[in-house]
Amino acid sequence: MSGNCHAVVVGPGLLFVVSGPSGAGKDTLVDALRNRIPRLRYSVSATTRPARAGERDGEAYFFVSREEFERRIATNAFLEYREYNGYLYGTPRDFVERTLTDGYDLIVKPEVNGALSIKSAFPDAVLIFLLPDKFSHLRGRLLERRTETIEEIARRLEIAHVEMNHIRSFDYIVINEQRRQAQAVDDLEAITRAERFRIHRWGDDSIKELEHS
Ligand code: 5GP
Repeated sequence: MSGNCHAVVVGPGLLFVVSGPSGAGKDTLVDALRNRIPRLRYSVSATTRPARAGERDGEAYFFVSREEFERRIATNAFLEYREYNGYLYGTPRDFVERTLTDGYDLIVKPEVNGALSIKSAFPDAVLIFLLPDKFSHLRGRLLERRTETIEEIARRLEIAHVEMNHIRSFDYIVINEQRRQAQAVDDLEAITRAERFRIHRWGDDSIKELEHS
């Protein structure tokens, strides 16, 4: 199933999209980054996947039925959505647009196709591909977290292989090395800081002001 996307007005906030295969460490690293940068907002996605032990509705995801998810698709409520491993996942459009227009930086962590859809809707979005130092570590990490069956892990790894083909469409690669997670969080933080200073984000008026000050 293909996701939908429509052109939208981009506000002054920056949109960071952390993607990459399941098991790369998106959840942990994005949580750590949010702890470091409290003003960074996070968009909670909706999903039809059942909640895992410890996952709270409205925190990890908004857990909804397939009927409800489809109703939201019909009302154009998602900026993008995808079917992943038999379940639907979607980024809520209103929250993203409102947060950026209000001037807050925002982070989302969809799978790779969702990340590319977001880039089409928001060409200014910053796409970060997160990877372990060795692709073979993905399997170990998925096994370690004990949230999926062996069959589900095998399917996630198949999807991961396909996802790797899109790496060149991203703006940055961050390597989440074994036992060096703090380094990956530093790298993510460096990207969020550097992106602020990109010349095209300044706007012609601010540059003119600097030129004539
Ligand atoms: P999980 O079931 O492990 O929580 O998520 C499965 C995959 O769906 C992960 O790669 C995750 O990043 C992705 N995902 C989570 N939320 C969204 C979303 O809103 N849109 C898309 N396209 N993917 C999502």
